[in-house]
Amino acid sequence: MDYDVIIIGAGPGGIFAANEFLGSGKKVAVFEAGNELSKRKCPIDGEKVKSCIKCKVCSIMSGFGGAGAFSDGKYNITNDFGGSLYEHIGKTTALQLMEYVDRINLENGGEGTKLYSTEGTQFHKICLQNKLHLLDAKVRHLGTDINYRVLENLYKKLKEQVDFFFNTPVTEVKKTENGYEIIADKVYTCKYCIISVGRIGSKWMQKTCKSLNIPTLSNRVDIGVRVELSAEIFEHLTNELYESKIVYKTEKFEDSVRTFCMNPHGIVVNENTNGIITVNGHSFEGQDKKTKNTNFALLVSKHFSEPFKNSNEYGESIARLSNMLGGGVLVQRFGDLIRGRRSTQKRIDENLVIPTLNATPGDLSLVLPKRILDGIIEMIYALDNVAKGTANDETLLYGVEVKFYNMEVETDENLETRHKGLYVAGDGSGVTHSLSHASASGVYAARRILQQLNG
Ligand SMILES: Cc1cc2nc3c(=O)[nH]c(=O)nc-3n(C[C@H](O)[C@H](O)[C@H](O)COP(=O)(O)OP(=O)(O)OC[C@H]3O[C@@H](n4cnc5c(N)ncnc54)[C@H](O)[C@@H]3O)c2cc1C
Repeated sequence: MDYDVIIIGAGPGGIFAANEFLGSGKKVAVFEAGNELSKRKCPIDGEKVKSCIKCKVCSIMSGFGGAGAFSDGKYNITNDFGGSLYEHIGKTTALQLMEYVDRINLENGGEGTKLYSTEGTQFHKICLQNKLHLLDAKVRHLGTDINYRVLENLYKKLKEQVDFFFNTPVTEVKKTENGYEIIADKVYTCKYCIISVGRIGSKWMQKTCKSLNIPTLSNRVDIGVRVELSAEIFEHLTNELYESKIVYKTEKFEDSVRTFCMNPHGIVVNENTNGIITVNGHSFEGQDKKTKNTNFALLVSKHFSEPFKNSNEYGESIARLSNMLGGGVLVQRFGDLIRGRRSTQKRIDENLVIPTLNATPGDLSLVLPKRILDGIIEMIYALDNVAKGTANDETLLYGVEVKFYNMEVETDENLETRHKGLYVAGDGSGVTHSLSHASASGVYAARRILQQLNG
């Protein structure tokens, strides 16, 4: 065997799995389709390259640190959202592992960052009084800059004991009598394998499950918009909680609309998933990089089962429509949306809220299905009751934001597939969809393997 363990993917799932093997004396390798951290550069510079040029391997989504590398670094410690890891390993273990991941982040450069909590907050009551439900969580906000530093420090330690293969996508995983063959630039063999390929690896994961005859379950897709408004409007919430996950049940259709990924004083960014441009957001910990705006997503979940199963394809089609109309992401003032007119460049230029992303002014009602859009508008009015000004004409809506979820890979309670020694972790497993859950799942899979290796 070339290695005891091969990990596919160097996102948080893969990194935290690799970290568990430090000092164990085991031979471990990590294969990553993208670049090492210092070489991850998105070509958009705002001058020569203004928008996404659809690189073969996206530096924002791929490379050491995975999709989380340039993210806001919000590590939510909760079983209420971010994945269903607890359904496999139990609520207590899941929370303990998320706390453990938090400690590692602190030891590697994250010390001094703030941990926010919803415990005992008055906003539970205020939300309930306005038909909104605030979910419970503790959240460590590293910020994009500190998150990057933590990754740099983790890489420095890991590369001493772990072999990293960057720009080396794994094309196939084959089962052998004693382990696995990992097909990349050449064939590598290992006894145990952890697949942690994230959302960007969803199609590859599906193909791999098919070739290894591992069953998968269809998953949901979340579709919506990113809201950007003056930071003052949400300051009472963001100062205390940083990120508030609020759920609203619409009166018209009883659909759930939820806030997601709140970025106080942050920026709105493009996201490229397999060539489709959607919107996202993040914020920085450093004062000098803070903007005057806060952004967050409003999302509605859709889950298809029969006869159409591919929820992600539905989300992709809607995102493609916005890409077709706007060449990428569209932006619209809330005032224009409710008046049934498109936003123009002139209206955006004259708007009181200055956009932090250069998006194409347009009309989101031509892109989003009516039911989803109605739900989002209802929620904006509901949020206006707890954060007055949310429903101002000047509030900007960027579309579309799509959260793709991987098909859930069938595993046992230990995240081991039906093939002994083959584990899945992170967002690629369909079990997690956040930094903390993905990291915790990596730790869990690695510990199981260590137990087996140490017999
Ligand atoms: C802009 C942005 C902001 C975000 N902000 C937050 C946040 O604040 N808080 C939060 O909890 N979550 C956030 N997320 C989500 C979070 O980043 C993910 O949940 C997390 O990164 C998942 O970790 P992972 O290791 O499972 O997968 P990923 O981070 O996606 O890493 C998977 C890695 O596997 C590699 N890979 C894929 N296929 C192959 C292959 N065949 N061979 C080799 N390598 C392969 C990829 O290149 C990638 O580097 C954000 C995501 C984005 C895009």
